[in-house]
Amino acid sequence: MYVFRHSEQTLKTALISKNPVLVSQYEKLDAGEQRLMNEAFQPTSDLFKPITFQSQSDWIISHPEVPQDFEQFFSDAYRKTPTPEKHTIYIQSIGSLANTRVISEEYIKWLKSYCEAFFYGLTVKLLEPVSVSATKCSFRVNDHTQNLQIHAGHILTFLKKKKREDAFCVVGITMIDLYPRDSWNFVFGQASLTDGVGIFSFARYGKDFYSSHYKGKVKKPKRVSSSDYSIFNNYCVPDITSALLLRSCKTLTHEIGHIFGLRHCQWLACLMQGSNHLEEADRRPLNLCPICLRKLQCALGFNIVERYKALVRWIDEECTDTPAPKPSCENAVSVPKPVEAFKEWREWVVKCLAVLQNQE
Ligand SMILES: [Zn+2]
Ligand SMILES: [Zn+2]
Repeated sequence: MYVFRHSEQTLKTALISKNPVLVSQYEKLDAGEQRLMNEAFQPTSDLFKPITFQSQSDWIISHPEVPQDFEQFFSDAYRKTPTPEKHTIYIQSIGSLANTRVISEEYIKWLKSYCEAFFYGLTVKLLEPVSVSATKCSFRVNDHTQNLQIHAGHILTFLKKKKREDAFCVVGITMIDLYPRDSWNFVFGQASLTDGVGIFSFARYGKDFYSSHYKGKVKKPKRVSSSDYSIFNNYCVPDITSALLLRSCKTLTHEIGHIFGLRHCQWLACLMQGSNHLEEADRRPLNLCPICLRKLQCALGFNIVERYKALVRWIDEECTDTPAPKPSCENAVSVPKPVEAFKEWREWVVKCLAVLQNQE
């Protein structure tokens, strides 16, 4: 394993900048928030670690990109910022997400409430789920993997039409694998930052997608009619395990982060690191490093303590039916939220809260 370590000064400048306006903006932050963010350039920080990589195929090695510090983000004239009029993230599910309707519905509510805590202050709404056929997208059976795939660009066109007046963005999620164009094998997701739409597939996050007995392999039909979507009926979907929930929360927040104008992070171990493959995506943390956190805070204006508390509450709350007239969840169908995989991260957030609130 290799470590990608920046000097204290580099990290400090990336976070605070040398621009006097941004320095004074930083100094106006709450003392606890500064204490937490300053951990970015403490070499012995227990909270924020350098980026590690394992091979030359890792993103940071194989995709040289210009790093984006806070100042570059701040002065990017093209980045999208929510406004009081455009303040809602819409989530659209496409095709079935789980083996039963109840689990599908619960799963998407978990994603919704996670995004609400993560993008603290924004409203997140679910659009009525649609079938694959409703999107009128092209589809195919992949020649190599024999799984069903839908055309990502066609889904983006569909999502654009779904955009309401108050939408900051519309993100589609599906358990069907995606392809961006005929010559490509697959893609995990695709987004249009200018249109504020994105589509992400979690098909490959199931535990057996890459195994030889993956149930999603289908025989290539002799003649595929572009309007016959019956092949999607009862098509296999992965089990909603704790690991899948974690991976999907991570992907969704990473991708929505891009819609805010956050580029791939090259500073510290961070949710916004790029990833080339699943193992690398699993290695990146659920949290933003202080530089990316300052970017998101600048776009949303949240209080960091409140945001972290909301994330802890999301992990602790088994039931997502918050607006229920009764405080108990006894009427709700009980599908426990599989949060085991988030426990370690919960401890990390609690440590951050201690720094923020000076309870060391
Ligand atoms: Zn990315
Ligand atoms: Zn970062």
